[in-house]
Amino acid sequence: MNSVDFIVVGCGLASIAFIEQLKFNQQSVIVFDDNSQQSSTVAGGLYNPVVLKRFTSVWKSKEQLDLALPFYKKLEQKLKVQLDYKTPVLRRFTSTEEQNNWFAAADKPNVGNFISTKIVKNTNPAIKADYGFGEVLQTGRIDTQALIDSYKNYLLTNDEFVNSKFDYEQLNCTENGFVYKNISAKHIVFAEGFGLKHNPYFNNLPLNGTKGELITIEAPELNIDFILKSSAFLIPLGNHLYRVGATYEWTDKTNNPTEKGKEELVSKLKTFINCEFKVIDQVAGIRPTVKDRRPLVGEHSAQKNMFVLNGLGTRGVVIAPYVAQQLYKHITSNTALDPEIDCHRFKTEN
Ligand SMILES: Cc1cc2nc3c(=O)[nH]c(=O)nc-3n(C[C@H](O)[C@H](O)[C@H](O)COP(=O)(O)OP(=O)(O)OC[C@H]3O[C@@H](n4cnc5c(N)ncnc54)[C@H](O)[C@@H]3O)c2cc1C
Repeated sequence: MNSVDFIVVGCGLASIAFIEQLKFNQQSVIVFDDNSQQSSTVAGGLYNPVVLKRFTSVWKSKEQLDLALPFYKKLEQKLKVQLDYKTPVLRRFTSTEEQNNWFAAADKPNVGNFISTKIVKNTNPAIKADYGFGEVLQTGRIDTQALIDSYKNYLLTNDEFVNSKFDYEQLNCTENGFVYKNISAKHIVFAEGFGLKHNPYFNNLPLNGTKGELITIEAPELNIDFILKSSAFLIPLGNHLYRVGATYEWTDKTNNPTEKGKEELVSKLKTFINCEFKVIDQVAGIRPTVKDRRPLVGEHSAQKNMFVLNGLGTRGVVIAPYVAQQLYKHITSNTALDPEIDCHRFKTEN
């Protein structure tokens, strides 16, 4: 029997942030992942502290960025791979009214620090932007695919990763912890993203799931080195490749890319770029979204030492380190969870 402190189910952004808490505190772990969910691997990976529709502040943006940026930096050093591509985000304006709203937002306490009041003029003939852009500060992109791939490899080399489905029916809950096949553990943390729907212990939680699709285009004449936000995000990847996304779809819960998703993104793109481009890839995943747009974290109400770490929604990159730290402190020091993320805010059977 292999004995560990923690079993973690899932190896997405949420789990990785939590496993790093375990490692830092010398706790042993076994991680299961079966690639059934794609959200973390397909994500655009953006971090951006401003809601670019309304020019308001993102929930706890400063607190979460202050944790997230050093977290990814440390991971880069540990995994010896570049993850954080610090890149400005330019919000394209479509009217003078929008420019004025931008200036008004600059005076607001939580947003002002993150936006530049200078209007950036468009000098690129391949972009349609008569009203220029507003620049958001402290933004960038985490290469989530590189992160997941290299983190799994790192776990594999330590014999801490099992590349298979976690079968809930084979989990035995005892007074002293858990037994799963030949593994015994003191704690179990479920971080399956939208896969939570199949988890009999927590599937009553109100996780909705919002499908998102992204395309990758090749556009040799575009030549931009910033992230452009218009009706879609355009993210430079290098070598004339750009990722464009994302869609929001609430009924289809599959990871399959669709023609409809592609057409939507292509037609949005044509409203703000002028040059030729070719779609060379398309991906889709389900964001683990919750009706009140806050994470789902906490202990099972009947089963001691069983926890959920989920509901990272549309902003997993910055939220993950924050919720992972909250959960770890809750488990080991009995620190109360931020009530906004505590899964017991919902009256369910779990
Ligand atoms: C198109 C798209 C674009 C996005 N863009 C951004 C962005 O730019 N910035 C941002 O911050 N966020 C973005 N997101 C959101 C972000 O991806 C999510 O918030 C985040 O990935 C959720 O991470 P997670 O670890 O909770 O879930 P997941 O990434 O879904 O990970 C859960 C893992 O659990 C595994 N699993 C599930 N069930 C089982 C089981 N029974 N046994 C074994 N393994 C299991 C799955 O295979 C998966 O690997 C985007 C999402 C999408 C879909």
